[in-house]
Amino acid sequence: MSDFLLEMSKNPQVRKIIKSTGLPVPMPPELARASGPYEAKFLQGKSVLLSSRADARLSSRLLKVLDASGADILLPESAHLSTLAHDLAIATELLPEESTQPLHAIIFDATRFEKTAQLDALHTFFGPVMRQLARNGRIIVLGPAYEDAASSSQAAVVGALEGFMRSVAKEIGKKGSTAMLLRVQKGAEDRVEGALRFFLSAHAAYIDGQPLTLTARVQSGETPGFVQPLAGKIALVTGAARGIGKATARRLAAEGAHVVALDLPHDESALASVAGEVGGDSLPLDLTAPDAARRIASFLTSRHGGVDIVVHNAGVTRDKTLARMKPEQWALTLDVNLRAIEAITAHLLEQEVLREDARIICLASVAGIAGNMGQTNYAASKSGVISYVKYMAEELAPKGITINAIAPGFIETRMTAAIPVAVREVGRRLNNLSQGGQPVDVAEAITFLATPGASSITGQVLRVCGGMMLGA
Ligand code: NAD
Repeated sequence: MSDFLLEMSKNPQVRKIIKSTGLPVPMPPELARASGPYEAKFLQGKSVLLSSRADARLSSRLLKVLDASGADILLPESAHLSTLAHDLAIATELLPEESTQPLHAIIFDATRFEKTAQLDALHTFFGPVMRQLARNGRIIVLGPAYEDAASSSQAAVVGALEGFMRSVAKEIGKKGSTAMLLRVQKGAEDRVEGALRFFLSAHAAYIDGQPLTLTARVQSGETPGFVQPLAGKIALVTGAARGIGKATARRLAAEGAHVVALDLPHDESALASVAGEVGGDSLPLDLTAPDAARRIASFLTSRHGGVDIVVHNAGVTRDKTLARMKPEQWALTLDVNLRAIEAITAHLLEQEVLREDARIICLASVAGIAGNMGQTNYAASKSGVISYVKYMAEELAPKGITINAIAPGFIETRMTAAIPVAVREVGRRLNNLSQGGQPVDVAEAITFLATPGASSITGQVLRVCGGMMLGA
């Protein structure tokens, strides 16, 4: 569905005229999205300013990731980092004072902040360089994890970094830029690379203003590769005939996975065309059928000997206020969005169809976080998914399996095209980037969580919502 304001604001003349009227018309920025698969040197020719403190293990990891990505690494006056970079034979430059050079990304490492007194460094560091952040730029703050807080003051630091990052995200959204907070648990310092690469890249264009915890809880036997990371993997995507599922099938295949695309039997021709396009298999099946889990397991076992990635994407809405909702509207929404996920995952585990190091990604929604008028059934199913994922993460960690939820905000699909026009326009604008996301934005987040490099993320909710105000 086309976004009139976004189309208009692509024209600089029109932008100028609207700005000059002083009217409060949002002018959504055009987001720079990646157009192909992951690339090794995705930061080639781009400047990244890195401020790092104390922890040498994390600092050297950050330097190595940026170097491997082809970035021009700029450092503030910091003898510690320059020496470390020199020892690692990584070229860096000091950021000249009064510099006006555009910065693609600014990374600030606060993982060793122990006391609120240290928070002043955020202002000292970011204040002078904020204007240099380029369009579609990235700000990444690394911080300590709440579980590791050794004092009340450090716990306050954990929260303060979140409030800071969320507000920064709101300030830079008009330039199409985004901010994220990565909380690095003790022991996970060596496992930041996947997340860092993803959030610095144009693959994460619509993910904004949220914290994510990186953990060493899941012991993965895999060495993460960052180009074609899904080569040789089998991926099941439910609801793959259109929308987010179709975009996901494409993205997973582009990173090397063999996709088994599942959707309702009456969508067989749309499904076959997706499966054909990505060189995968088509599996027409109603997820609410009593034997659905068994048929999926037997298809995956007989054709592929198992599965590495399961994307529980199929979903329905049956919106009505509670007093008007029919029992079948309630039941179908819970059956497809929640109970099918439980039943299929349980069966795949029981039959050992899910391989070691597997990835499970379940579609939730910001409506599951905030609740929504007329969506008691939908929100119940989606918050159910969020809690389910949190619980299952503990159970699956010893097998090297991660399980996460993705909570899309307003994404331009058939589902949101059905919303009445006025409500749709408000929903679309209520985020830091003043626009709806595209199915591919959600597909990017799913694909990232499916990679070996995301083994440090489990039991969490990744929102793909442009920093939506709803449930923020
Ligand atoms: P969509 O309606 O375009 O696609 C959903 C697909 O699921 C359809 O192809 C449908 O046939 C399939 N499906 C439904 N019931 C099924 C069943 N019983 N068996 C097999 N397949 C079934 O929706 P979308 O917008 O692409 O949404 C994908 C997921 O993302 C859903 O879980 C949805 O709740 C979630 N989500 C979407 C948005 C958004 O803004 N579009 C926002 C939040 C969450």
